[in-house]
Amino acid sequence: MNVVTVDTPGGQYPITIAPGRLDSLAAAIPADATRVALVTNPTIDAIYGDRVRQALAASGKPVFDVMLPDGEQYKTWETLQLIFDAMLRQKCDRRAVIVALGGGVTGDIAGFAAASYMRGIRFVQVPTTLLAQVDSSVGGKTGINHPLGKNMIGAFYQPVAVEIDTDVLRSLPAREISAGLAEVVKYGLILDREFFDWCEQNAQALRALEPQAMGYAIRRSCELKAWVVSQDERESGLRAILNLGHTFGHAIEAGLGYGKWLHGEAVGCGLVQAAELSAEVEGLPRADVERVRQVVAALGCPVQAPDLGEQRWFDLMKVDKKAAAGEIRFVLTPEIGRAVTRTAPDDAVRAVLSRTVA
Ligand code: NAD
Ligand code: ZN
Repeated sequence: MNVVTVDTPGGQYPITIAPGRLDSLAAAIPADATRVALVTNPTIDAIYGDRVRQALAASGKPVFDVMLPDGEQYKTWETLQLIFDAMLRQKCDRRAVIVALGGGVTGDIAGFAAASYMRGIRFVQVPTTLLAQVDSSVGGKTGINHPLGKNMIGAFYQPVAVEIDTDVLRSLPAREISAGLAEVVKYGLILDREFFDWCEQNAQALRALEPQAMGYAIRRSCELKAWVVSQDERESGLRAILNLGHTFGHAIEAGLGYGKWLHGEAVGCGLVQAAELSAEVEGLPRADVERVRQVVAALGCPVQAPDLGEQRWFDLMKVDKKAAAGEIRFVLTPEIGRAVTRTAPDDAVRAVLSRTVA
């Protein structure tokens, strides 16, 4: 069992990482909790619902379900309202606790519900996708989409605990694993050269969900993200480096239409493009660009970007929220293990597109 402590102005809490952790969830329920709202979706409920309900029953608290429709398209105000409806009907007071069992969509909505129900109640994250385990469940960003923009309505709100069961990854499709691994190797690229080397050496073990390798990858990712978030909870500076690969990646997602590529697949490809741009403007050695390309491919993500048309690439990257006053701000890596944020000349970006677009 591994425990990583997250320490932010918004709260201190443990991330516990262990196979079979689902069966010990009662330990994460605060002693003074009055009720437990288990927020999940039918896909996850069908596989893990009974086990989780049984584990939570051991807390001795009344547990009720809030079933949300499955999918990013339901990360909406209406879905959020389903949680409030159920909690009010169950007469939940301020000492009720929300348990978010699911991927990033479930965690983001349930976290925002916890941030706003009666001005804030406690919640426990039980992330079940690799992306949620290494990224979205750590750091306290919660929220929903608006028809005019993704993640536009939300709050910074930290959980009281994050409970990671590494066994649940076995029921995830291989594409979801690869997508999560792109975010894992991203942490090595921005902060930890040795971890990047380790990801290169263990790419196959990770894709095969080898327990020891996966446990370490999740722990190290959580440690690195927790460190960044502890320095900059509200993304006023340092936290921006977590967006390495995301300016290109978001353009791919939006350009192809959301859902065509998984977010992490687009980020994987974006990491290669950011490495190419880092070679252009920050002197990252070409050999290191090739290492990035190879590790992203080895983890099962695409390394060739789709042909969106040059102008459209630029337009899409300028809408990305990191574009300040028309200039595109990129996260770049002058060397593996270190990140900076910079604007880059359009010519350099064109050169990258010519080398990375299929
Ligand atoms: P997701 O929550 O939609 O899950 C992907 C699919 O896998 C869903 O159909 C889900 O029901 C299913 N699933 C989940 N766990 C499973 C399991 N163990 N076995 C089988 N199926 C399972 O997607 P995601 O990739 O986890 O999260 C994406 C969301 O996370 C986006 O909305 C994004 O904005 C958000 N996000 C938030 C942050 C943050 O800091 N809060 C960071 C990154 C991403
Ligand atoms: Zn991401």
